[in-house]
Amino acid sequence: MIRIPCPFCGPRDHAEFSYGGDGSITYPALDAPLEAWHDAVFLRVNICGRQVETWQHVHGCRLWLKVERDTMSHEIYSVTPADPALAKVLEGGE
Ligand SMILES: [Zn+2]
Repeated sequence: MIRIPCPFCGPRDHAEFSYGGDGSITYPALDAPLEAWHDAVFLRVNICGRQVETWQHVHGCRLWLKVERDTMSHEIYSVTPADPALAKVLEGGE
């Protein structure tokens, strides 16, 4: 079982969340060639170890989160809102 510490709701079972995929992907511009979109959407590296993922807390605050997790041990290193402006507010910024 994976416990994800949502910054708004506290630690919750991963069953409350929906997995969104690799959080490190930079998507191409909307008018980029089809091949660039194909590569960004379908080509994935199967990481063994630490990676950044996106998860949505669908049975809680419904926000999208960036979760840094070890894919082997399921240890969670950090959880922040996927929205950079919201993450900045939580860090004490503007
Ligand atoms: Zn939440």
